[in-house]
Amino acid sequence: NKAAPVAVEDWSGSFEWDSRADDTRFNIFGISSFRANQREIINAVMSGRDVLVIMAAGGGKSLCYQLPAILRDGVALVVSPLLSLIQDQVMGLTALGIPAYMLTSTTSKEDEKYIYKALDKGEGALTILYVTPEKISKSKRFMSKLEKCHHGGRLSLVAIDEAHCCSQWGHDFRPDYKNLGILKIQFPNIPMIALTATATYKVQTDLMEMLHIPKCVKFVSTVNRPNLFYKVLDKSSVGKVVIDEIADYIRGSCSNNESGIVYCFSRKECEQVNELLSLVAKELRDRGISADYYHADMDVVARGKVHLRWSKNKLQVIVGTVAFGMGINKPDVRFVIHHSLSKSMETYYQESGRAGRDGLPSECILYFRPGDIPRQSSMVFYENCGLQNLYDIVRYCQSNRKCRRSAFFQHFGEAMQDCNGMCDNCAYGTEIKEVDATYHAKIIASLLHDMQSNDQRATMLQLVDRFRAKIKASGASNTPASDLKKEEVEQLIILLILDRVLKEEFQHTAYATNAYVTLGPLWKQALQGKKAVKLEITIGQRGNKGGS
Ligand code: ADP
Repeated sequence: NKAAPVAVEDWSGSFEWDSRADDTRFNIFGISSFRANQREIINAVMSGRDVLVIMAAGGGKSLCYQLPAILRDGVALVVSPLLSLIQDQVMGLTALGIPAYMLTSTTSKEDEKYIYKALDKGEGALTILYVTPEKISKSKRFMSKLEKCHHGGRLSLVAIDEAHCCSQWGHDFRPDYKNLGILKIQFPNIPMIALTATATYKVQTDLMEMLHIPKCVKFVSTVNRPNLFYKVLDKSSVGKVVIDEIADYIRGSCSNNESGIVYCFSRKECEQVNELLSLVAKELRDRGISADYYHADMDVVARGKVHLRWSKNKLQVIVGTVAFGMGINKPDVRFVIHHSLSKSMETYYQESGRAGRDGLPSECILYFRPGDIPRQSSMVFYENCGLQNLYDIVRYCQSNRKCRRSAFFQHFGEAMQDCNGMCDNCAYGTEIKEVDATYHAKIIASLLHDMQSNDQRATMLQLVDRFRAKIKASGASNTPASDLKKEEVEQLIILLILDRVLKEEFQHTAYATNAYVTLGPLWKQALQGKKAVKLEITIGQRGNKGGS
């Protein structure tokens, strides 16, 4: 992994707009000083340069385009993917007295008229205009008005929020973002600022190409969030109830006025997710934790109430899907607990990153069991690199020795920084037993080979059962393979998938996509016992006390 260059050009000098920028920052936004890179970014945009900003969630990206939008004459166009984010932003700006509007499916006819007139003829105050990407790709009318605005010298800048959506390699590719390149082609002399919280080196290169901003100034702030303590907890041990553990953790580590989020797995098309959320919230309440749930189908009033109570720390825990938290800016979230696996390192970084935006120690806990993987993989396999991305976070979960933070640095192509004991592996490590599983792998490969020769296939669970049945039937109680517990066999199968001895395959039915385990590219080596396989089995439960 190549390290991404960090702001190669120096934009910290003095500029004619310095004092106006400071006045606007303080008098309009009520912000007492700029954070890292903000002033430099503003300087580059004000100088007419194209800019790429990579800044952690909560770092203050919005100011980087909103402030130049105010300083420059004319209309700033902002493309943003989510209606709810746009609404929040427009509301916030309006409250500050800035003429901000949005052109989306929810815009009234009256506002639309106002906006079009402003674009067309420069009538009426319009400083910042938010649109969703579909407007650019699908509305000829809008584009022709925008052209007029530009022609009249009234287009001040173009901002692309959540710019990683441009890239197929990113974690949230949106087809409509692909067409945003048209903006630079039509308005080559207007500065474009693309912003995102997360972009690997590859995604950066890709989106610069798609947006036609090859010469942009890059500002890469570190992905490191030094105040976050990362840990992975095992939820595979038989008889262990995760809810009990989560409740114990919250009671043990947090005072009553400290709050956080518990994320549950969401399968988009699955209605049951709402039931699951309410059930988990109830189970936490039964254990004396003040908890409630939050989901998209709740009516606006109920949702608002839950959110408000939580924001004021009257409610300790919100149970939600990973969609909860997007655009929500609570600075003192003390813990983010994932009840099950995220789909990639990038999404996990973003979701867990909702903790500790105020810079105080906070914890990010992920509950992992191999059995959760097929459920996730059957959802992501059709995405570009979906499986690769999923397997990356599985590696993160299964690594018992390596600094958790280092996985983020590596993933985002950044040089290693000190963890300062702020992850489970660095703080207290894990007691593990290393098992030579070469023989076990051989049995699994031969089992699958036999099955596939008979046109049979197996889910992970079926394979686990067959493996154990075979060991039992052989009557051998002292073979090396007889001592693996069910979860350990699951863990081994996952390891073999990561090592490409096995692979996952998927089949659609009318109701679901089923995941199967089949032989992978390196199966022959395993069958011949030539593939050395080392399984790390956790003996000691990882400590429950973290850095906070
Ligand atoms: P991002 O888009 O990077 O996630 P936002 O632009 O929403 O972050 O900013 C996060 C929060 O930080 C907002 O409440 C914003 O007002 C605040 N903020 C931005 N810049 C500064 C600053 N220089 N000083 C203090 N607070 C700031």
